[in-house]
Amino acid sequence: MSTNEFQLINHYFSRLGAVRPDVVLGVGDDCALLQVPAGKQLAVSIDTLVEGTHFSPDVDPESLGHKALAVNLSDLAAMGAEPAWVTLALTLPRIDEAWIAAFCRGFGALASRYQVQLVGGDTTRGPLSISVQVHGFVEPDKALRRDRAKAGDLIYVTGTLGDAGLALQTLKSDYDAGKQLAVLQRRLDRPEPRLVEAGALRDLATGAIDISDGLLADLGHICDKSRVGATLQQADIPLSPAVAAYVRATGDWSIPLAAGDDYELCLIVPADEQSRIDAIAKTLHVAVTLIGQIEPGNAVRCVDAAGNPVADPRGGYDHFRNP
Ligand code: ADP
Ligand code: MG
Repeated sequence: MSTNEFQLINHYFSRLGAVRPDVVLGVGDDCALLQVPAGKQLAVSIDTLVEGTHFSPDVDPESLGHKALAVNLSDLAAMGAEPAWVTLALTLPRIDEAWIAAFCRGFGALASRYQVQLVGGDTTRGPLSISVQVHGFVEPDKALRRDRAKAGDLIYVTGTLGDAGLALQTLKSDYDAGKQLAVLQRRLDRPEPRLVEAGALRDLATGAIDISDGLLADLGHICDKSRVGATLQQADIPLSPAVAAYVRATGDWSIPLAAGDDYELCLIVPADEQSRIDAIAKTLHVAVTLIGQIEPGNAVRCVDAAGNPVADPRGGYDHFRNP
């Protein structure tokens, strides 16, 4: 990068997000110096978004800045971790100041909202690619791991499922979502990491995953790691009005069951915590819905209101084996 470019980067990235007392030294030196609170474990996760693979070239840069951070914060939420710091590796084809400013608005607004500070990164020239690494804190032995689900545990999800998937589907097909399209598009472009919900529920839950690849696939990861199976009640899957209308019109359950990108949480809760979970859920702004139960075995099944297994919307037979 040339000196001018360097000054520009410095201008935009030297102060982004919250200002935290546990940042001893932030952007500007060879390394950041960070103080992990005594007695806490550090939870770390990184995700990369590549133009053409994860987003289209004409994407709104402010939304992209939001989403690049949101998908990472979602991983912290799914681990039951409290977010603290973020680093950003940006590969840019050219220096487009308006683009960078908009990207930083989206990224910075979300970071500020969740008390996250940008503490470092790297900027290089090349095909547009964005890597974000987040760092958060978790109490020892309190992380919401994928390998702790037991037969009898309850399966909950936050929010509604399939909204982001339906936004993509309406772009690809001639399905008309009508006035709801803007709501769906926002769910795809500006996913909200469920950090508040995770913070409220993490002491009762024993495991969680964020739904990035679709409910069946992501619950399948929990079942694989925990060596258990699961049965979902299709009628209990929470749907927005737009997705409910789509399912009624088409009979296609693949959107809520198997489409990704919603970044809702799937939580595993011991059965004896049901009343406490439901009481906390009433205090939250986002629905937390019981959708099924962990079972012995290794199959992930979904049953209709009569209890009959439904076909795997991803293709296949009457129950969904883990890969
Ligand atoms: P070095 O050559 O030591 O790796 P750099 O020139 O890459 O240093 O970066 C200088 C400083 O600017 C470092 O503190 C680095 O963390 C920060 N930085 C560079 N790019 C970014 C970015 N995109 N976001 C946040 N901080 C950045
Ligand atoms: Mg560097």
